[in-house]
Amino acid sequence: MIFLVLSGAALPENLKEIRAYKKHIGGAELRADFLADPGGEDWPGFFQALGELPLILTLRKPEDGGRFCESEDRRRELFLSLLEKGNFRYIDLEGGVDFPDVEEAARAKGVRIIRSFHDFTGVPEDLTGRVRSLVRKPGDIPKAAVMPKSCRDFARLIDAFRDLQDVTKILLGMGQFGFAARVLAPRLGSWLTFASPAGDALAPGLIDPRTLDTVYRYHSQSPATRVFGIIGSPILHSKSPHIHNPGYTKLGIDGVYVPFHVDRVEDFLPVVRKLNIEGFSVTVPFKEEIPGFCAHTEDAVRGTGACNTVKPREDGLYGYNTDVEGFLAPLRAAFPAGLSGLRAAVIGAGGAARSAVYALAREGARVLVVNRTAHRARRLCGDIQKALGLCEERVRWVRPGEQGLALIEEYAQLIVNSTTMGMSPWEDLDPLAARAFRGTETVYDMVYSPRETLFLKRALAAGCAVIYGEQMLMSQAYRQFYVYTGKELDPSAAYDL
Ligand code: NAP
Repeated sequence: MIFLVLSGAALPENLKEIRAYKKHIGGAELRADFLADPGGEDWPGFFQALGELPLILTLRKPEDGGRFCESEDRRRELFLSLLEKGNFRYIDLEGGVDFPDVEEAARAKGVRIIRSFHDFTGVPEDLTGRVRSLVRKPGDIPKAAVMPKSCRDFARLIDAFRDLQDVTKILLGMGQFGFAARVLAPRLGSWLTFASPAGDALAPGLIDPRTLDTVYRYHSQSPATRVFGIIGSPILHSKSPHIHNPGYTKLGIDGVYVPFHVDRVEDFLPVVRKLNIEGFSVTVPFKEEIPGFCAHTEDAVRGTGACNTVKPREDGLYGYNTDVEGFLAPLRAAFPAGLSGLRAAVIGAGGAARSAVYALAREGARVLVVNRTAHRARRLCGDIQKALGLCEERVRWVRPGEQGLALIEEYAQLIVNSTTMGMSPWEDLDPLAARAFRGTETVYDMVYSPRETLFLKRALAAGCAVIYGEQMLMSQAYRQFYVYTGKELDPSAAYDL
């Protein structure tokens, strides 16, 4: 179940939010510590409008992430008076709190008690024991919200889920490392998870109910759901869940694809086993490190030195580089006669450039790498020449500036931006501002956010054919989808980016 956290300063505000998310939620948590004047609210009207929606009553203190700053006596009184006001289904009392009269009043009205504890500093060593000890009377629901600070912490949280399978509980991971546990709550066995459009402002890692339901397929998850994902740091901004998850829906696959914030690859590998992750994508900064953990790698991984796709199999991890084919897919459509002999300039010499230069050179193009940092460009060209057995003439480099601009003219059939210039938040940067387009070039921007960069806008205005980074993103994801599931996504389908 998804419970919407109500953090409005007044009840009408909370009702508005409930109406907006009604079809995605199974209940709500009223954070009464956010109400400006609980005594002055229209409670009968609120409960009437709420109907049968289950409601948790919570009055959180600052040390537990809340706003209630008055005395414990005042908190006890407020709990008692709010219980009188209407039909709460649950009340959240922290594990250490002793309010016998509140408990008695709650039990007399059939209100179930959630016994909670919060740890904003990490994952306690004895999490399983702590959760079990929260239950005071039969029917109490233990709740723990913990903050994993590393992949190791996250792995311990997964262990707690395994060890507490026999307990009806609410178990939450907060923050970037805990995000996957929030999203995987039904798969892991948390009785509910919390969600709010207020996001991090309310609790670290909180996600809005619509995204949780529609992107992360919350209501179709079960303990049998297959898990896929993407690793990186940072990773929560990734668009990949928005491509893979709708693909599972479309093809009727019981799967979910989630972002895993990772600090050390070696600490993520136990998580792969514990969750039986059937495939994971790899992004910055792990693409070049991950091949070292793979038992098998395809040519494109060895050629580029980078891997963005991992499939765990019985005899180890298999590493793929789908960026190479993803980069080529729109080019094959743009140059149906093939790329052999094409003269292409690639601006940039980072990870994305490696895939682009390898792909172009392998297909027979002549490539000029243009990069401000000479040693990076030199190393990239040397690596690709060696991997493909090519002479220096086929893959060469130059620094930007006058000489660079002059040389680009010899390679201007295709101009590729593989730098981060133009990418949000650097939207006002243009990787080739000093050169005007003639209209004869095909211009390819690997940047996909924003969709249309300044660089592409200029190219379009000059009459050039353009290729969007989004086209590459989709193509590389389709191949990943096939590697993970053995099923093909329809390339013409429009997925929500
Ligand atoms: P990266 O490894 O950090 O490389 C960044 C490159 O940009 C470097 O060559 C760097 O030059 C250059 N650069 C950055 N700021 C610059 C500036 N102000 N002036 C001149 N050069 C600058 O990044 P990456 O992983 O290659 O990613 C690059 C872009 O490709 C990102 O926008 C990423 O989202 C996109 N990408 C898209 C796809 C897709 O599917 N469409 C796939 C992969 C990547 P120096 O070497 O001189 O520092």
